[in-house]
Amino acid sequence: MKFVIIGAGSAGVRAAETLRDTAPDASITLISGEPGEPYSRMAIPYILNGAIDEAGARQRQSHQHLAQLGIQYINIPATQVHAGLQGGQLDLADGTRLDYDRLLVATGSSPSMPPLAGTDLPGVVTCWTLEDARQIVTKLVPGARIVMLGAGFVAGVCMKSLVTSGVKLSVVAGRSGQILRSMMTPVGSRMLQRWLEGRGVDVITTGQTLRIEPGPRLVMDTRVIDADLIIVATGVQSNVSFLQGTGAEIRSGVVIDAHMRTSVPHIYAAGDVAQGRDFSTGEWVVHALQPTATEHGRCAALNMAGKDVAYRGSLSMNVLDTLGLISHTFGLWQGLPNGDNTEVVDEANFLYTRLCFDGDLLIGAITIGHSQHVGAIRGLIQSRRHLGDWKARLMQNPQLVMDAFVELGQG
Ligand SMILES: Cc1cc2nc3c(=O)[nH]c(=O)nc-3n(C[C@H](O)[C@H](O)[C@H](O)COP(=O)(O)OP(=O)(O)OC[C@H]3O[C@@H](n4cnc5c(N)ncnc54)[C@H](O)[C@@H]3O)c2cc1C
Repeated sequence: MKFVIIGAGSAGVRAAETLRDTAPDASITLISGEPGEPYSRMAIPYILNGAIDEAGARQRQSHQHLAQLGIQYINIPATQVHAGLQGGQLDLADGTRLDYDRLLVATGSSPSMPPLAGTDLPGVVTCWTLEDARQIVTKLVPGARIVMLGAGFVAGVCMKSLVTSGVKLSVVAGRSGQILRSMMTPVGSRMLQRWLEGRGVDVITTGQTLRIEPGPRLVMDTRVIDADLIIVATGVQSNVSFLQGTGAEIRSGVVIDAHMRTSVPHIYAAGDVAQGRDFSTGEWVVHALQPTATEHGRCAALNMAGKDVAYRGSLSMNVLDTLGLISHTFGLWQGLPNGDNTEVVDEANFLYTRLCFDGDLLIGAITIGHSQHVGAIRGLIQSRRHLGDWKARLMQNPQLVMDAFVELGQG
């Protein structure tokens, strides 16, 4: 059996290892579109602040890891899949053609540039690859003027590293005027914004970005910002061009079923590129989180190797360290249209707890500054434990969530 995996991120590497465990004699080829050993994008913020070097970003510490497992590792981008009924072929950018019996697409996504003039100018970068990190690090000297265009999750995870290196950081939120909108209510976003501003970050939530000029200089309708570096973090798009013509169904990512199969025979998908099952809603979404990518990779590999393993869905859970203020977002934190939600806000001490219910089930939550509740909240959501009388008590006082977890867990 020939297994080919396109993409050597968290999903691809875990899939390759799982395949080797499950199919000891199979041929396994893992393909990266980037040079070097497989690495974790999650490590990039720690490279920026010097906490780790590039070796520390490697997914597996040994250079020999893949070779020891008999996994062939190739650093050449895939350009086209030719899908057949019994398997197919894959073209690589150097003209090589590989045969596969089972193919896994684990190519993640790439930053999408906003429709602005000047995003290709010197001094304008994205923050997605090791190569991006190398470019950013050269600019992180005390006093440097860094503009972050975009205020979503990737911007959020990088802010601390930028500020602690002594730069002067400006963050430009999108049209919504709300930072971290994909993981925070307006109340939570404003609290995090106030925290950032109190630590010298210029958070810009009004005005429209018009273009980038040489310098680089960010031109908005309300102001002009001269910078030493502009980091564009405004969104991503799935890496799927090589699937063109195969008939694979693609929406916000490659559509898969509960066994990680795409709509094309013998082709599977996993990780950021795939629309997988969401634990909370049962819907098919792109989660773009490392734990989800790893779970996807494992589940896809088991099914590729002939096991029958349905994916139960992954819980969306974000953890963010915003210059020392830790926030968590779980599951359906927006709440349901007719569901009950409760919030406690302590603006003076930067504390926030929000719990969302479906009947007497906890289905989502946000915490800011309350890391001690994380295990309890996650446990209650994932176990779908009926809260019974505890629901009314938590509606009154969300801080009792640990007590509820302990009592219900032992009941
Ligand atoms: C700066 C940063 C910080 C992050 N921090 C966190 C965090 O704190 N917590 C968290 O849960 N998530 C975090 N993430 C998100 C997390 O990194 C992703 O969810 C995870 O990397 C997804 O893994 P993946 O294997 O699906 O894709 P990726 O890791 O993106 O890997 C994709 C692989 O496919 C390859 N590829 C792409 N196109 C081709 C092609 N045509 N041919 C061959 N190979 C190709 C790439 O080279 C790469 O090897 C962060 C992301 C970034 C950018």
